[in-house]
Amino acid sequence: MLPPNYSMSRRNLIRGTVVAGAAAGTTMLIGIGSAEAEVSEPSIHSAADWGARPPSSPSQIMNTRPQYIVVHHTASSNNVGDTQADAYSIARAIQGWHMDENDWNDSGQQFTISRGGHVLEGRQGSLDRIRTGSSFVRGIHAGSPANAESIGIENEGTYTSVQPPEALYDSLVDFCAYICKQYGIPASQIFGHRDFMATQCPGDQLYARLPQLRADVAALLGEDPAPPVEWPVVKRGTVGERTRSVQFLLSEHGIDTVADGDFGPTTETNVRQFQSTKGLVDDGIVGPKTWPELIVAVSVGAKGEAVKAVQRQLNHTHGIATVVDGDFGPGTDTSVKTFQQRRSLVVDGQVGPITWKELVG
Ligand SMILES: [Zn+2]
Repeated sequence: MLPPNYSMSRRNLIRGTVVAGAAAGTTMLIGIGSAEAEVSEPSIHSAADWGARPPSSPSQIMNTRPQYIVVHHTASSNNVGDTQADAYSIARAIQGWHMDENDWNDSGQQFTISRGGHVLEGRQGSLDRIRTGSSFVRGIHAGSPANAESIGIENEGTYTSVQPPEALYDSLVDFCAYICKQYGIPASQIFGHRDFMATQCPGDQLYARLPQLRADVAALLGEDPAPPVEWPVVKRGTVGERTRSVQFLLSEHGIDTVADGDFGPTTETNVRQFQSTKGLVDDGIVGPKTWPELIVAVSVGAKGEAVKAVQRQLNHTHGIATVVDGDFGPGTDTSVKTFQQRRSLVVDGQVGPITWKELVG
């Protein structure tokens, strides 16, 4: 049974826009501006609909917009029905676990999606707040600081070894698009619970689906796909953190260079020297051929100038508070992982070519 907000035809049209649209000669459905109008509030069952108990104490209201969405699975049985009554049943069960066993004031997560694709309010007040687009009810679902920064969605079932049903997935796409539209959240800012704490949640299978989820939500929102990050061109006259990274890295390679962020004649000479040693064209310009030679992979335990470059980039360019001391300790590890999570990279704390390119690109 399909939920009321489920539209097979629309989803299929969106997924096949280019081919189907061109072949049929129909109006483009997806384009900048046109798609956004398509994102409207899906059918959401309020907590009153499913017979929620009143909260045992008021939930905290955040008078800010959440910055991202956290996807969970309920780790409950997949062997359940897909009707509205089944959906109400899981919503009540979760509230019972959270209030009676965890001693929380209400359901922890703001929303739930059932195996049948029904979207339900969890934590009471969440639905009214999402309609404001400027405030939200703080949840209990992903620890600190995520609880104060995000909307949590529990997806009914266990997705460690099987994929969620299509009805659930399609509702998740529509609902995430609505949340993103209401709060101005980019589709890239959809994460899994395990991105924030040590947990299996939302299961390997659902977690592996998140890149597709981001892409499907981006398509609904009419977002331009994020352009791939390229190595920047840094040369004589370039001033700023990219130049400073080049200078730190030259020093790391034994060519001592003052890290003043100003690409002057000495830095240029040093780049030419580095290029010669690597068999590169010694034009003194740091571009896509020189960067991969210049970077040095670093992770926990590393010390030196390359680590300083990473720390400066994190702290000064990307706004992730990091001490610049040339010592890659736990604090830098946390900062790198935060950065990797934001960029939808593998979150492993290893600063290799992909992370380097994102840092300086
Ligand atoms: Zn979770």
